[in-house]
Amino acid sequence: MKYIPYGRQDISQEDVQAVVDVLQSDWLTQGPTIEQFEKKVAEYCGTKYAVAVNSATSALHIACMAAGLGQEDILWTTPNTFVASANCGRYCGAAVDFVDIDFRTYNMSVEKLEQKLVDAKKKGKLPKIIVPVHFSGQSCEMGRISELAKEYGLTVIEDASHAIGARYKDQKVGSCAYSDMTVFSFHPVKIVTTAEGGMVLTNNPGLYEKLIQFRSHGITRNPELMTEKAHGPWYYQQIDLGYNYRITDIQAALGLSQMDRLDEFVTRRQAIAEKYNEELQGLPIILPWQHPETYSAYHLYVICLEEDKIEKTHKQVFEELRQAGIGVNLHYIPVHTQPYYQQLGFDWGDFPVSEYYYSTAISIPMYSAITEEEQDKVIRAIKEVLL
Ligand SMILES: *Cc1c(COP(=O)(O)O)cnc(C)c1O
Repeated sequence: MKYIPYGRQDISQEDVQAVVDVLQSDWLTQGPTIEQFEKKVAEYCGTKYAVAVNSATSALHIACMAAGLGQEDILWTTPNTFVASANCGRYCGAAVDFVDIDFRTYNMSVEKLEQKLVDAKKKGKLPKIIVPVHFSGQSCEMGRISELAKEYGLTVIEDASHAIGARYKDQKVGSCAYSDMTVFSFHPVKIVTTAEGGMVLTNNPGLYEKLIQFRSHGITRNPELMTEKAHGPWYYQQIDLGYNYRITDIQAALGLSQMDRLDEFVTRRQAIAEKYNEELQGLPIILPWQHPETYSAYHLYVICLEEDKIEKTHKQVFEELRQAGIGVNLHYIPVHTQPYYQQLGFDWGDFPVSEYYYSTAISIPMYSAITEEEQDKVIRAIKEVLL
């Protein structure tokens, strides 16, 4: 029996050839393919600058550094995300706090964000950065978030790890029309892959310059940024403390080739979602609700059990689906309940909507390469387990 995972990559013969071509070229890393990949993503999103790195986690870290996040500062994100959206704040020594989710989109609630900002201002504890996460590929309400950011002087970093190819109003996610920076992930379960990889997009030349430096040791070759005249053509200066977060040309070649199929991937994911929407009606589950101003990239398709309408527990349903060969998963364990964040003072009960969501949610298989028969099998298994 073939196990159907919740997500996986979709690699074509062209992708394979693109990687082989780089392997046979002069540059395995720090070569021209990285720039081509960056340019392609920036053009796709309608953004001025893009900086490719070795993961979205690194991308979030250098985005926080570029925004000047430090030990005296605070970063807010959502509890319904992967731990990396919060950890980036901790890497900079900042305090991290969370804003609970909207019960329909499972994204950061803009009402709760506004209320929390009002309270934080009174206490003199406003965050420097907020990291809205476009959960499952559906954009947050960026219009309102950007208004609040202006009013309270916040830097906005969109964690769009799920959402390349998605749209909000008439903009591509990644356009940074409503934020300072946007981060993508190219992990194999995401929409487009480079095996491991990530990217930061921005329209701000100052941030761009810093992102480039922090990606590679804090080193610059830009004479305008140097403290003295170049000693010769070999010269560079380390003007800050950075990291080695570079991506390879091998990976960039895969990403560049995958970008050719991004729209196709998202169209396919939308079609898979539509089929689930139709076939899973009438079951004791809540299907993913879509905000009318968004077009989702559908990284995930999450069903939530209506507990009062079924005899089985959440865990039972989950286990029975796994036994039926369906690779269901759970996104996400609320970040504030992780032992590391509990040590920092958070506890169960702090963000009840995220916690309730966690007790009912199941991610079912969603990826462009799933076949019709495989999706039919998923649908049959869900019906058998729930009816
Ligand atoms: C996958 C993911 C990340 C981390 O991505 P990597 O490329 O694996 O570092 C960060 N945030 C969210 C919301 C993610 O889903």
